[in-house]
Amino acid sequence: MYQKIDKINCFSLTDFHDFDDCLFRFFVRHHLDKKYLISKGSPQLSLGVLLDKTIKNIHKYKAYDKPIDRLVKAVRFSAREIKESEEKNPKKPNFDTQTVKFLNEEVLTAAEGILANYLSGIRGGIKKSIGEVGFCKKYLKVDDKYYCLWGGPDTLEEGKDGIPEVVDYKSRQDIAKGKEYMDMTLMPKMYTLLVADWLKSKGYKKARFMVKFWQDPKEESFAQEFNLEKLDDHEEVFKEKIQKVLKTIEAEFCITEFCDACNYETKDDFAKELTEKHGISIRYT
Ligand SMILES: [Zn+2]
Repeated sequence: MYQKIDKINCFSLTDFHDFDDCLFRFFVRHHLDKKYLISKGSPQLSLGVLLDKTIKNIHKYKAYDKPIDRLVKAVRFSAREIKESEEKNPKKPNFDTQTVKFLNEEVLTAAEGILANYLSGIRGGIKKSIGEVGFCKKYLKVDDKYYCLWGGPDTLEEGKDGIPEVVDYKSRQDIAKGKEYMDMTLMPKMYTLLVADWLKSKGYKKARFMVKFWQDPKEESFAQEFNLEKLDDHEEVFKEKIQKVLKTIEAEFCITEFCDACNYETKDDFAKELTEKHGISIRYT
């Protein structure tokens, strides 16, 4: 059996993105567990979270055949659920804290409009869910020690050809830019690995990872197919990433003005904490 794996040995897709984008941000969010503290949130981010929650609810309640004006009501229902979950969570700030801050009337109305437009734009209606996606974990053994990938896609849907679709929904204000910068390297592998064992237990041999864009319902080309029996090479990618993380003991601040770690008021305290607790030295240039 697997031993309980410490949080520091668990990695989300965002952790790997942070690792590639800004090492200091990676260490602050991952090693110091400050992601909810330093994240400022925005109306755009809240809109995306709300839409994702809404499609999950439409799947959960199997509301596929309802008319669009009924389905759109799921937006406000989902917003209430997010707010309740934030209030009930004793940890502050938590996963929903920044989202809740921007869940105002403007964002709710925008989400309703985008959902209505999406639903009228998709060909053949909403695909049926093949199971609710919980919080997924995938254990990996690296140098005789267990590590864990965690997180998960938004939904698992039944493709027209019977192949299950592992779907992540994305909300993008600038759709062209959103497509240009979409991660189709790590994300498809990660989300497929996270649900592969469950899909295999249901008898599936293949899966198709897909990004669906809220603002572009007809876009179906962001897709990659996987043979669920042959995922070793994909696991290897993450094992190598983890080995790289383990070897990294130095970081410096990035120069981007929107980095929420490098621009945080108490970044010097974070740097000190990283050195003291984790032996990570931060270079000041
Ligand atoms: Zn940075």
